[in-house]
Amino acid sequence: MKKEFIIAGNWKMHHTASESIEFFKALDGKIAEHPELAREKRIEILIFPSFISLYPLKGISQKIKTGAQDIFFEEKGAFTGEISPLMLQGLVTYVLIGHSERRHVFGEIDSDLNKKVKTAFKFGFSPMLCIGETLVEREAGKTFDLIKEQLDKGLEGLSAEEIAAVAIAYEPVWAIGTGKTASPDQAREVHSFIRELLKEKTPAFRDIPLLYGGSVKPGNSFEILSQKDINGVLVGGASLKVEPFFDIIQSSYKIVAK
Ligand code: PEP
Repeated sequence: MKKEFIIAGNWKMHHTASESIEFFKALDGKIAEHPELAREKRIEILIFPSFISLYPLKGISQKIKTGAQDIFFEEKGAFTGEISPLMLQGLVTYVLIGHSERRHVFGEIDSDLNKKVKTAFKFGFSPMLCIGETLVEREAGKTFDLIKEQLDKGLEGLSAEEIAAVAIAYEPVWAIGTGKTASPDQAREVHSFIRELLKEKTPAFRDIPLLYGGSVKPGNSFEILSQKDINGVLVGGASLKVEPFFDIIQSSYKIVAK
């Protein structure tokens, strides 16, 4: 079966602007060495670098898109340290919203994230909403309730057309940066559940990209990407170096080219 994939790297607070440029040039060069991959339209390659790297990265690669790791819901004003949607215009296609570190380290709640999703649409960005349960929630049997709550609240008040244009990243918090990956069955089970929930929200539910994130690496990406209802991966640690990230891209190519 042919599938379309988003292979995304979340760099968090890593890589200076010059390191980011170096990475983009090296990855772009590696892709160019594989013309079949360079021509492949069904694989979208996306990096979420630091905010200050976005401007210097502009135009360096035609193949690698950039996204913002966050967005604030006000356009301007006394909001020290925040990033305005106006400042991101022309620099990014996607904005990451509600990454587990934003939720659990910085205390962002679903109603904040819902405002951010709406702001993304207002400014023409594609929101990638991250959802996922903690280990305590999983062990208490609350995974599905929690996923439903995060999805319902994050997408509250959006039209069916807007919902059709979001991307969802399912990232079990216990699998992020821990080396523990959800098993393919665990990931597929939650992805199918998310797909079912989206069915109630938009007739275009089948087209919404559902990404898995949590300790994805070259050794497990092929199996994860082969699962039904998994349309991409959001990669942290393994996206920081060109080789492993390129290997993950290649594993997606093996699936689309089948
Ligand atoms: C992430 O930061 O979204 C992530 C999934 O990290 P890692 O791949 O390192 O677990």
